Amino acid sequence: NMMQDPPEIRQLDESAVNRIAAGEVVERPASAVKELVENALDAGATRITVDIADGGKTLIRVTDDGCGIPAAQLPLALTRHATSKIDGSDLLNIHTFGFRGEALPSLGAVGRLTITSRVPGADAAAIKVSGGQVGTVRPAALRSGTVVELRDLFHATPARLKFMRTDRAETQAIADTVKRLAMAEPAVGFTLRDMSGGGEGRVSFRADPESGDLFDALHGRLAQVLGREFAENALRIDATRDGIRLFGYAALPTYSRGAAVSQYLFVNTRPVRDKMLTGALRAAYMDVLSRDRHPAAALFVDCDPMLVDVNVHPAKSEVRFRDPGVARGLIVSALRHALAAAGHRASSTVAG
Ligand code: ADP
Ligand code: MG
Repeated sequence: NMMQDPPEIRQLDESAVNRIAAGEVVERPASAVKELVENALDAGATRITVDIADGGKTLIRVTDDGCGIPAAQLPLALTRHATSKIDGSDLLNIHTFGFRGEALPSLGAVGRLTITSRVPGADAAAIKVSGGQVGTVRPAALRSGTVVELRDLFHATPARLKFMRTDRAETQAIADTVKRLAMAEPAVGFTLRDMSGGGEGRVSFRADPESGDLFDALHGRLAQVLGREFAENALRIDATRDGIRLFGYAALPTYSRGAAVSQYLFVNTRPVRDKMLTGALRAAYMDVLSRDRHPAAALFVDCDPMLVDVNVHPAKSEVRFRDPGVARGLIVSALRHALAAAGHRASSTVAG
């Protein structure tokens, strides 16, 4: 029995590492849109425009009016694990969407990426990266902010390209991503334009500069994103317990859906997908809604970042509550109270 020679252990080069990481960060065009819009939000943008073509497969371009990236730092923005958002000392206390420093290098590894940016008082500059090959910083023309353009996503990874759904399905997923982020940030204006097919597809969510009030702003944004009908049939939720604040809007039982589709949860303004919400809503509406109906809701949990761990998944749509029962209990009791106050008193269980 001949032993085979042990295979040699080698360090993967940066471009291979980036392509592997990209597989986790960028699953589909919508995940690229999420990363880029979150970067714009982290940069303090007040207006964000997302242009896409062919379901984002050939073009994703995110334009913002945020703080910009200094020309000298453009190469660093494309370097793995380089970030301006944390210094690594406090991973439990994160206040930005980004912190891993992975999105831009990953996107540069799986598509043709161009970043053009300008910081106040300096000239605009651009850098390109394609297939992991980073170009040099060049002068560019831009009034302010940042434009990140991603062309031909996954052109270098045909296997991944094969898993893309139809343009229509990918466009839908992108629209859903933009909607979630727009709900999370009512003070920011969002536009999504589909440049393919004559550019007729367009949704805009305007920010209302008049509404300084949190609930007015949120209500206005929800009316734009989820529709007037939801907004007119929604109960305002506002409750605090054990240092956790829950606020938002939840539909009256009379405005419900046959599927649990319009249920949105945000933790510290981060859109998250958590089955806990569906379960909590079901429990809250148990006595006022039949089992095959599902209430629409957009609920925001605000708490000390120490009470949640966002470091669970690279795409960060998961968070882990230190004590999931507290958030669930808060949602159930706050909704029951709001329903009871609106005259939808449950037969027996409202007391708690
Ligand atoms: P992360 O968001 O985790 O820091 P990214 O790879 O997404 O990592 O971005 C790297 C860095 O590039 C960010 O930390 C930020 O400094 C800068 N950056 C990216 N996008 C923008 C933008 N739209 N405006 C300003 N700076 C940006
Ligand atoms: Mg980022």
